[in-house]
Amino acid sequence: MVPECDHDLMTIEIPTRTPSPISADDTILPFEVSALDVRGRVVRLGPAVDDILTRHNYPLPVAKLLGEAIALAALFGSSLKFDGRFIMQTQGDGPVRMLVVDYVTGGRIRACARFDRRRVEAAIAAGQASGGELMGHGHLAMTIDQGADMNRYQGLVALDGGGLEQAAHEYFLRSEQIPTRVRLAVAEELRSGDGGAQHRWRAGGIMLQFLPKSPDRMRAADLDPGDAPEGTQSHSLPEDEAWLEGRALVETVEDVELIDPELSSEQLVYRLFHERGVRVFGSQNVEARCSCSRENVEAMLKSFSQDDRDHMVENGKIEVTCEFCNRVYDFKPGEVEANDSGQIDQPG
Ligand SMILES: [Zn+2]
Repeated sequence: MVPECDHDLMTIEIPTRTPSPISADDTILPFEVSALDVRGRVVRLGPAVDDILTRHNYPLPVAKLLGEAIALAALFGSSLKFDGRFIMQTQGDGPVRMLVVDYVTGGRIRACARFDRRRVEAAIAAGQASGGELMGHGHLAMTIDQGADMNRYQGLVALDGGGLEQAAHEYFLRSEQIPTRVRLAVAEELRSGDGGAQHRWRAGGIMLQFLPKSPDRMRAADLDPGDAPEGTQSHSLPEDEAWLEGRALVETVEDVELIDPELSSEQLVYRLFHERGVRVFGSQNVEARCSCSRENVEAMLKSFSQDDRDHMVENGKIEVTCEFCNRVYDFKPGEVEANDSGQIDQPG
């Protein structure tokens, strides 16, 4: 899971022009601050996250947590050089047992949560419904699936009561040895519309990673200029200082800056890094789209025994609801016959 190198993309030097004030929802903007040896991404989600969260209508803190997971998966998934599916999944002993975000190359995303409604309500009543408290202890898994004949890659990190930001830092440090800082924010926006005010979900995130190009750089930069003429400055900061600076800047990012539709991603990275010089790369799109289909659901039903299928008949039909998008698929009992090939397919 090596973050892609963006150098082959067309670059735009921000310091030479005004950062674009046009805020584009459902996009991911990669950027680089060479002076600090850091690279990052900003994700802004409007309709995509609203579509997913509104469809599910989860209790508010669960929706908010899933929104954070969607923003995080978009940041991770879009930084990977692969073709296929990136799946981020949490499992924990808290009121939210599981979160799944499924990101397909090109930016198609879907997500769902499994939770215990009573425990969630109790957590809300007790004021203990932060993301970390909802997930409890367990693990966060990152899986790359490049198709049936390819190996699946999986990385795991423990969840120990902290939130998704903390889990992401741990994951990159332990699995990738890449110092990483992530900020995530999710909020409901109120808009006036036909028939009164409308709630819309928005989410945003920023990820910053320390990726020194030269392994020698730290040693060189740590050395005193020595015999160099008086006043010679080393042309770069020692790595740890560069990282401390980048990290500190990202930690100042406020939730409102990540979700404000009036502040563009370019304006945000310019606000943070203009003193060091920042350049941005071509942005990528994200859309909420489920990959379920009637064919996939039918194939899954065919993989069950006739007896199992008979037990699934209710009111004269077999009804299957996609957990990701809530689409309902109806089958007549005789419509699904045993699968001769014996092939087992998973829905979606
Ligand atoms: Zn679906």
